[in-house]
Amino acid sequence: MKSKYDVLVIGGGPAGALAAKTAVEKGLSACIVEKRPAIGAPVRCAEGIGQEALHEFIEPDPRWISAEMTGAGIVAPDGFFMKLESEFAGSKVGYVLDRKFFDRELVWKAAQAGADVAVKSRASAPIMENGVVKGAKIEYCGKVTSVRAEVVIAADGVESKFSKWCGIDTTVPAREIMSSVQYVMADIDIDEHSTVFYLGNDVAPEGYLWIFPKGKRTAGKKSGDGHRAKDYLDKFVKKTFPHGKTIEYIPGGVSVCRPLACTVADGLMITGDAARVVDPLTGGGIYNAMFTGRLAAQVAAECIGKGDVSKKALMKYDKEWRASKMGKAIERNYHIKEYLIKQPDAKLNEIIHSVSKLNLKEFSTLTLIKEIIRVNPKLVLELGALAASLR
Ligand SMILES: Cc1cc2nc3c(=O)[nH]c(=O)nc-3n(C[C@H](O)[C@H](O)[C@H](O)COP(=O)(O)OP(=O)(O)OC[C@H]3O[C@@H](n4cnc5c(N)ncnc54)[C@H](O)[C@@H]3O)c2cc1C
Repeated sequence: MKSKYDVLVIGGGPAGALAAKTAVEKGLSACIVEKRPAIGAPVRCAEGIGQEALHEFIEPDPRWISAEMTGAGIVAPDGFFMKLESEFAGSKVGYVLDRKFFDRELVWKAAQAGADVAVKSRASAPIMENGVVKGAKIEYCGKVTSVRAEVVIAADGVESKFSKWCGIDTTVPAREIMSSVQYVMADIDIDEHSTVFYLGNDVAPEGYLWIFPKGKRTAGKKSGDGHRAKDYLDKFVKKTFPHGKTIEYIPGGVSVCRPLACTVADGLMITGDAARVVDPLTGGGIYNAMFTGRLAAQVAAECIGKGDVSKKALMKYDKEWRASKMGKAIERNYHIKEYLIKQPDAKLNEIIHSVSKLNLKEFSTLTLIKEIIRVNPKLVLELGALAASLR
């Protein structure tokens, strides 16, 4: 690790890896500092991603694809099963990744492109001069060094502290942090190419429970209501997979709030979970992390080239991601999430039953939302202008 870079990236997850890779590809010097001793471990993720979303950044590789999904199912609170088949999706549904290897591959690609990487290296404080972020103090094996940078990209995930230290309010309202628990299980009978989502107040109040295939007869599951996710999950597992064996326990927090009010400051850009750009409806954030990481580095390169890394100049990044398909989806899905978490089971049953009668030609969250709105006219009144804009 050198003492000065054009771009210093805090965090070696998908956001940080894409930021560093893009920065060096743009001719900048960049370094990723990752506090954990190994990139990608421990995993705090169910590892699902849409096929098209993944292809935007990297070609799939069997070394880090655990399962390919060709269908999905939703189980309503009354037990009704709605199947979404691949025929509606032109075989493009999704992958379950193996993030231990996927995250490493992303960082490896950044390193191959020329980025420096330092593991077991924790950013412990920003270097600030006249209110401008100029780098970070990095702790490695008890030693603290100063690393200066033209731009610091905070990609330090849901637990993000760096931006707060720089004076930005990153607080997530307590009710908007989903506490999640996931088991990787072996020796269970599931469809190896289909994800299943369970809804309902008995299963996962204000959240959902999922089964993701992870290869032959293994699956990840998650449940959450902000309080006792593990109890709900244990109850489900006892009933559904009484003989299954849990081989991994994965707790984690997912923010389902709106993104930060502003994701830049003088000399600082905030990306991925640190910027709270997780999809509030699904809790998915891998794509959004890669998208914001790449965009941040592209804008950083432009601004460094022009010799202006002020908040005003870096705002281009903030404006662009908000105006993107991803930014608009976050805003829309926030409203949908707020609506759905307040619905009693009877309403959720009604919505799922009605959607199941449709011949969905395209498989996506947006399609589902549009159909939900179409078949539930009252929703238009409840969601107001947002619903009207989607019709
Ligand atoms: C249980 C669970 C299930 C999920 N399932 C899915 C899913 O199926 N699909 C999906 O798309 N998303 C899912 N997510 C969300 C997804 O994991 C995140 O959105 C994604 O990892 C965000 O990437 P990131 O790069 O922003 O942050 P992260 O992947 O969290 O990476 C941040 C990195 O920064 C490091 N770091 C933190 N602080 C410092 C510091 N001070 N100095 C140096 N390094 C630091 C951390 O160690 C970490 O490696 C899930 C999350 C949870 C908790």
